[in-house]
Amino acid sequence: PVDRSPEIQEARLKLPILAEEQVIMEAINENPIVIICGETGSGKTTQVPQFLYEAGYASGNGHVKWAFRQSEGNVTDLQKCLCTGNLLKPLSSNGTIGITEPRRVAAVSMSQRVAKEMNLSHSVVSYQIRYEGNVTDETQIKFMTDGVLLKEIQKDFLLSKYKVIIIDEAHERSMYTDILIGLLSRIVPLRQKKGLPLKLIIMSATLRVEDFTDNNRLFSVKPPVIQVDSRQFPVTVHFNKKTPLDDYSGECFRKVCKIHRMLPSGGEDDKEDSVEEMRKFTKSRKRRKVTALPKIDLNNYSVVPVDEGDEDRDTDTDDDAAGSDIDLDLGDGDSEEDEKSDSSLPLYVLPLYSLLAPEKQAKVFRAPPPGTRLCVVATNVAETSLTIPGIKYVVDCGKVKKRFYDKITGVSSFRVTWISQASANQRAGRAGRTEPGHCYRLYSSAVFMDFEKFSAPEITKRPVEDLILQMKALNIEKVINFPFPTPPPTEALAAAEELLIALGALKEPPMTGRLKQQLAAKLSCPISPLGRIMATFPVAPRYAKMLALSRQHDCLPYTITIVSAMTVRELFEEFDRPAVSEEETAQLKRKRARFLQMQKIWAGQGPMQKLGDLMVMLGAVGACEYTGCTHKFCEENGLRYKAMLEIRRLRGQLTTAVNSVCTDAGLYVDPKMKPPTEAQVTYLRQIVLAGLGDHVARRIQAEELLDDKWKNAYKTALLEDPVFIHPSSVLFKELPEFVVYQEIVETTKLYMKGVSAVEPE
Ligand code: ADP
Ligand code: MG
Repeated sequence: PVDRSPEIQEARLKLPILAEEQVIMEAINENPIVIICGETGSGKTTQVPQFLYEAGYASGNGHVKWAFRQSEGNVTDLQKCLCTGNLLKPLSSNGTIGITEPRRVAAVSMSQRVAKEMNLSHSVVSYQIRYEGNVTDETQIKFMTDGVLLKEIQKDFLLSKYKVIIIDEAHERSMYTDILIGLLSRIVPLRQKKGLPLKLIIMSATLRVEDFTDNNRLFSVKPPVIQVDSRQFPVTVHFNKKTPLDDYSGECFRKVCKIHRMLPSGGEDDKEDSVEEMRKFTKSRKRRKVTALPKIDLNNYSVVPVDEGDEDRDTDTDDDAAGSDIDLDLGDGDSEEDEKSDSSLPLYVLPLYSLLAPEKQAKVFRAPPPGTRLCVVATNVAETSLTIPGIKYVVDCGKVKKRFYDKITGVSSFRVTWISQASANQRAGRAGRTEPGHCYRLYSSAVFMDFEKFSAPEITKRPVEDLILQMKALNIEKVINFPFPTPPPTEALAAAEELLIALGALKEPPMTGRLKQQLAAKLSCPISPLGRIMATFPVAPRYAKMLALSRQHDCLPYTITIVSAMTVRELFEEFDRPAVSEEETAQLKRKRARFLQMQKIWAGQGPMQKLGDLMVMLGAVGACEYTGCTHKFCEENGLRYKAMLEIRRLRGQLTTAVNSVCTDAGLYVDPKMKPPTEAQVTYLRQIVLAGLGDHVARRIQAEELLDDKWKNAYKTALLEDPVFIHPSSVLFKELPEFVVYQEIVETTKLYMKGVSAVEPE
């Protein structure tokens, strides 16, 4: 029995999915696999776990696990324990209900919401994401990212502690979600055979369930699809006559002002301030930090979905929106005058994006201050993952910022592209949750007709070496035969397999036969013992290799730190962002000067400097931790506080992972870590080279200079074109003859990131 508060109960009854509870539960009881489709906001994520809980899926009669009570000391003799049953307590007499989310934000906020609705503590309704969680022995409903569940499958292929797995947001087609569906399609029948049935529920917002239902390699018996009626109000879609070329941010601002102006006015508060704030928002291209602005009545809210990289997926931690050179053209600021004059009410503007602190995210769910009108400036997160109540107007710029990879070389670039028609419709739908609404599309209907119907599944778009390693660790050797909902391109599979062989994670195939056979053999290499160790580390294979090599010379703490820093994106503040005032320009200049000074210090002296950008990372993290990792220290020295906290968590996590592989290492995270010795630096450089062996570049010598475009350029094995050391690198002035790089990102040129120097053999 669940004890819900009357308000919660009332709100639940309004959700369309409540009417379907019986149908859904009957389908689940009678079928091992069920697909539930329903518009965003219909209540899938918050309610289905509750239905299952109330139907007894989280309780008893399952496989009871026993554990020693901590307080009883360490009794090792199991026989003895079994005789004295009181030494044991049931660790989990429950079958856990597991829900996976592609985004961290959703996992955290949905667990909190469900706990609140059910009036249960966080130790019962919990979450686990890459860096943290509040799962306990009592957890019965567990929200997690898809990457977390994939790791769990490695430890326990049958997922025996779960009675139900819900794969949420399957329409997003995130890489790990796709793989989970493939794996679960096999796990479910296995559990059936063992007499411990596992239920699989796939939930999806928009359609295209055919990829799942009509794929008989995936599900030999077509699973039933339950369609939840959405209580959607009509949304009037307004297209722009013309499509602005690239100033969608400014266009967005003008449109919001216009919407605001068209509505009846109220008080005469901080109009100057608010417009200034809004200008700031359009000017700061990356994170729109918007606060107070103009207003209307409390029921009228607006959301402006803008672009965002898939920030908080566990799949892809270093992958995210906004490298420093990807400047989006911003508002020209000219035409703002006329709008300014009319907006006389305060708009209460809140940003919403993945990396925003959870307390700040939660603000969008609360009523705005009396006498203000809420305007949410949101990224994709508002498209499907989170439903903000009461939205009436949606301004859709039609864009998304995504990272694109070259299939073979892995070179990536961030690009702002048009969204798919499905995404556009999803965004529009957000305006009609509580009453009829309007969606303003900042592009023409002709442009809309040219959008792709759906966006391509992530797995077809990015390098798959981490995925392949995980699959091989699950003893799936012939990856090509795996029941992918949509398979990755063969070139990407081959590139991944080749890299993993080069890293020693897979056993080399006997190189005989024709080319085709070789390729086939390559795509079915078994994992090596080293590969198994690498697969236990929650980082990309290149970095895992570095960790696996770092036992000697006490290098592990340093490698862990470097790897953590390389995995977390954008450690340093960006100083060439557009400033809104002269004062800010001056401040940025001061900060940059200070940062450059610090960068030199962090880069160390003598041989240390050869480690280049990686030494800077190590030095910066070391200095930051030494002073207690405070917001103040970061602010003063040009470090991103959030990145530093993430590195700290990752260091902890990697330290635990390493300790569990080398049980005698006895590592801990030392906040007062000393700088590495000269010998250690030499060794660290070898380790880095071992992990990034295929990322070596050689400077073009003067005598080889055929073309001006090769000036100060480097040549890599992978690319025809010249690549460069970025001006922000500590090695920019030095230009060593040989370097290794972390990755290449294309902006105005092909730039190497995370560069360190290598000695020629
Ligand atoms: P779906 O998964 O079908 O998109 P959800 O279960 O996420 O739907 O949302 C159902 C309802 O719960 C929505 O109306 C949403 O506004 C509300 N809701 C979700 N999270 C919160 C929260 N943290 N505070 C208040 N309301 C919330
Ligand atoms: Mg949902």
